[in-house]
Amino acid sequence: MKIVIAQMEHETNTFSPVETPWESFGPSGPYIGEEAYRAMKSTKTPIGAFIDVAESVNAEVITPVAGFAYPSGPVSGEAYDRFCNLIIGAIQEDCDLIMLDLHGAMVVKDRTLDGEGTLLGKIREAAPFTPIAVSLDLHANITAAMVNNANIIVGYKTYPHIDMYETGALAGDLLLQLHRGEINPKMSWSNIPLLAQTLKMNTSEGAMKEYAERAALSEQNPKVLVSSAFGGFPMADIPDAGMSAVVITNDDEQLARTECSEILEVAWKQKEEFIWEDTPLKEAISHAKSLAEGPILLLDHPDNCATGATQDTMTTLREALEQGLTDIAVGPIRDPEAVETLILAGLGAQVSLPVGGKTDMPAINKKGEPLQLTGIVKNITDGSYVITGPQFTGVEASMGRTVVFDTGDAEIVITEKLQEPWDRGVFTSVGIEPTQKKYLLLKSRMYFRPVFLPIAKHSVYCAGVGVGSSDWTMFNYEKIRRPIFPLDNIK
Ligand SMILES: [Zn+2]
Repeated sequence: MKIVIAQMEHETNTFSPVETPWESFGPSGPYIGEEAYRAMKSTKTPIGAFIDVAESVNAEVITPVAGFAYPSGPVSGEAYDRFCNLIIGAIQEDCDLIMLDLHGAMVVKDRTLDGEGTLLGKIREAAPFTPIAVSLDLHANITAAMVNNANIIVGYKTYPHIDMYETGALAGDLLLQLHRGEINPKMSWSNIPLLAQTLKMNTSEGAMKEYAERAALSEQNPKVLVSSAFGGFPMADIPDAGMSAVVITNDDEQLARTECSEILEVAWKQKEEFIWEDTPLKEAISHAKSLAEGPILLLDHPDNCATGATQDTMTTLREALEQGLTDIAVGPIRDPEAVETLILAGLGAQVSLPVGGKTDMPAINKKGEPLQLTGIVKNITDGSYVITGPQFTGVEASMGRTVVFDTGDAEIVITEKLQEPWDRGVFTSVGIEPTQKKYLLLKSRMYFRPVFLPIAKHSVYCAGVGVGSSDWTMFNYEKIRRPIFPLDNIK
């Protein structure tokens, strides 16, 4: 038996000015062929699970491509075409089953608003009878094209996502059961007009927890093979953005439909609970100032690069400095120009320069606003460090050339590349001990939790500027279906 296994993952923030070329999907683009197999085997990812499931039945594994890019603006048409051609090329050769590790919120420039649905449609055309299993992120925006062109769809059940491998293992296993004729999957899906905010999608809290639990409850029915409760990705101006559910039963279409609507009903009844309310920035910083004991996390979540943001807006730091906060570690700020200037100036040099604010954000009508600062070049590194935190443990991360710029009140980590602060290494690798600082200004939304929350005395959400904002009034939606809550006031 031959199984084609591939990965094409991108969460597209259609408001982001950050480009997404082919090169974004790996160290120097996606892994191809044998390289994809070697890179992804034994990883705790859906594609890693697919490989294990396939090998457990001694199938021949064909891995045409594996690529994962961090959230950013729409994917380039060229990159998308290459993914599609590689996957379809492999399927056309000889293939019994197809397992795909996709995200479910990919938008492609000049091609499609539904990257995954369009790919699946092309695959179905090329191989009309070959069963397909798909794993998706919890932030997928499900479309009819995805559901109509796949046999099995399984989404992550957790956010932060800690069940990537389990999701792939389940999807792969169900596909094998289908292949052996042991089950007859009936898949139903539906969505509700609710544009939930990702900050309200922590699956261990509040309404999101109840929604996820209702999906888990439905799986206790032996006829239900899997139920996926998707949060959706709201920074996507596409018709199908928002919350949806997919339920697969063994040969019971009616049950799949009713479970699907009952799961969604749990979310809809509490729709207000999925909308994030920002505290004004001034107020948040002044609250942070009133707290005695550090470290205090200042979470500049709108500029989080893992939501597609530019990671160079300076509004929150400006406010913190204006209100007189001191002993702040900031990081990282992406500003290759400043890195170049500071490295040329050399270690120990005193420099005045504009920091950050180099990128305009036309989709939210904001121009980049650098912050003029004077300070000393305290450290220069190549920006690489090994992750010791619980996520991506052991992986070597690279921030590009990196400088610590010390203004007296703030030690700012300035990098060449985007880097989510998901590990203390963003500070420790450049000589800053985060536990010793009063304030840690992090451009983080969710992934500070496993590593920075345990060392923090307090955390304060700071409504700075950025295309990862949870203030939906900042975005000009044109293509999304209407009415939808909270853009429209529906009951
Ligand atoms: Zn996600």
